[in-house]
Amino acid sequence: MKALFSPHSLRHLQSLARNRTLFAFDFDGTLAQIRRRPSDARLNRTTESLLRTLSKSAPIAIISGRSVKDLRKTLTFHPDILIGSHGLESPQASQSSLQCARRTCKGWKQQLKRQLKGFPPCGIELEDKSYSLAFHYRRARNRRWARCRISDLISQLTPAPKQITGKCVINLMPAGALNKAEALLHLLNRSRWNAVIYVGDDDTDEDVFNLRDKRFFTVRVGAGSSSQAKYFIRKQSDIDRLLRIVITNRKQSVY
Ligand SMILES: [Mg+2]
Repeated sequence: MKALFSPHSLRHLQSLARNRTLFAFDFDGTLAQIRRRPSDARLNRTTESLLRTLSKSAPIAIISGRSVKDLRKTLTFHPDILIGSHGLESPQASQSSLQCARRTCKGWKQQLKRQLKGFPPCGIELEDKSYSLAFHYRRARNRRWARCRISDLISQLTPAPKQITGKCVINLMPAGALNKAEALLHLLNRSRWNAVIYVGDDDTDEDVFNLRDKRFFTVRVGAGSSSQAKYFIRKQSDIDRLLRIVITNRKQSVY
């Protein structure tokens, strides 16, 4: 990964910013600081205002592990495109695939209820996102123990879920569900945009970072050495600097 705020990387960003480009962002840890309670995460005023300004001249997508319903409730800025549940809830998703995902999650929840007898282990929370489930263990005293306990619970579920790990969270998705990369590719292939700038912060964004598609300009929040993103910014608050650069260059754009 290369530092985004270096002269060479910035030239690439600036030229894309003037082009027919979709600006796509993860939410938690990217546009907003991660909070101990996910429900406390919010856009700060500066980021919100910059996104509003950018949205006047460019398409914006927010792609999150949260459900679309949760995103609508949490966001104070509403972008052109919202994709939830790690790509599963996308504009291309059929009603039948969503209903199928909902049924699968309901089944897992009942199985987990039986396993746990109603009480998740201390420090572990189970979130029902309708089309996926998520085990959060940020508040567990012993996170390694929590991860083992969750893995044990998941191993007993049928049908076996696809697991997406993130920061102190393990997401359970129905097998075959679209991921963030597939959802973005669908979107891009049906649009008149030539490129995507995608910013994310977590293992759940690696599907996008792993794409070997020249139309994708990928940026990771944090310089994780094993990430496949092309560029990195050091910390979440650097997102405002990135947005300012993009906005300045959009003003010089013909699109
Ligand atoms: Mg994130």
